[in-house]
Amino acid sequence: MKKKYNLTQRILQESVHNSYWLCKEEWFLHSVWFDEAGSTCVCGKTGIKKICILQNKFNKKMLLVGSCCTEKVLGIPTDNLLKRLKMISNDLTQALKKLNHVTMFFRKGVISCSDYDFYISTQKKRPNSLSTRQITWRVAINKKIILYMAAAKEQYTNLYMELQNGTRD
Ligand SMILES: [Zn+2]
Repeated sequence: MKKKYNLTQRILQESVHNSYWLCKEEWFLHSVWFDEAGSTCVCGKTGIKKICILQNKFNKKMLLVGSCCTEKVLGIPTDNLLKRLKMISNDLTQALKKLNHVTMFFRKGVISCSDYDFYISTQKKRPNSLSTRQITWRVAINKKIILYMAAAKEQYTNLYMELQNGTRD
């Protein structure tokens, strides 16, 4: 119960609205990554490896949240997305299999319109059933997604360090 309370409190503190139900609507999934060293979720839970960054639409604040608490706030499961991202980073010829995962990167402007059309029309296909040109394209798109994740991690880390040093309010 205490963990849930911490999560609710932090979301309320960092949001614009005053009611928790409205506050939850202010946040969206900015990025996700694995942290083998383990981080601390806003609820206070330590050692979390499945990292989600939530960003506030209005004040642009970012919060580091574990995948379990992310589901409580956003109502969307992220475990599968994290698993798939790990898979494509280990093997760039594999694809994200869920349409909404690909759509998320398209909406963020990570992949282009033609990338998106190509990716979703071939996402269910095994690498060995794709032509060389198609494999090359899929690998290029996966690289864009992985680079975006790495950049988001760096962006968050820099922001966090600024906050720690008190150079940013
Ligand atoms: Zn948590």
